[in-house]
Amino acid sequence: MNIILLGAPGAGKGTQAEKICQKLDIPAISTGNIIREALRSGTEMGLKAKSYMDEGKLVPDEVVIGIIKDRLACDDCANGFILDGFPRTIPQAEALDKMGVVIDRVIDIEVPDEKIAARMSGRRVCADCGASYHLEHKKPKADGVCDTCAGTLIQRKDDHPDTVLSRLDVYHKETEPLKDYYKAQNKLWIIDGQDKVEDTTKLVFEALE
Ligand code: AMP
Repeated sequence: MNIILLGAPGAGKGTQAEKICQKLDIPAISTGNIIREALRSGTEMGLKAKSYMDEGKLVPDEVVIGIIKDRLACDDCANGFILDGFPRTIPQAEALDKMGVVIDRVIDIEVPDEKIAARMSGRRVCADCGASYHLEHKKPKADGVCDTCAGTLIQRKDDHPDTVLSRLDVYHKETEPLKDYYKAQNKLWIIDGQDKVEDTTKLVFEALE
């Protein structure tokens, strides 16, 4: 099954992508994670993307479309995949269509802006491996330390309050129109992502039936 998770930054797409990945045994692909990994490794693409990311802007379409084209060509995508954070613009969605990628389901996780801002202030990531935590909803075993690699947990630059506001603005202008795009293709499922993670997961799994 080929799945797209839509929703504002901080709506919980990454967490739900992991749950679907475990249930269906298909890879969860996050363009944000791929770009952050490129940045940690100091590749040209990562360095190019850095200024956009830090300011809460979208990385140019041609860059992310190239990333997705390469990633979807990998063997592990043969039985399906979950896209988390792609597409984020109409041209990116059109590029997927042009690649001949057939999307089965688009799940839009809805959370109001006020809740998003509060959630993102609690988000922390590992500076070494990129694993994601939350001060309330997904605490590490030891404060400030990654469970997986013992790296230091930091707040992402683009999770700082001012940047969150511009990311939400970008989301409403550039990404939200994708709801109509996929509604017209009869693929859109809208679910409420305001409650507990388990409640949202239940709705996500229902959308996949
Ligand atoms: P995320 O972790 O998905 O919130 O992505 C973090 C940042 O990576 C975004 O704010 C953008 O700067 C960049 N990014 C990730 N995915 C995309 C995309 N599909 N199109 C453009 N920029 C992206």
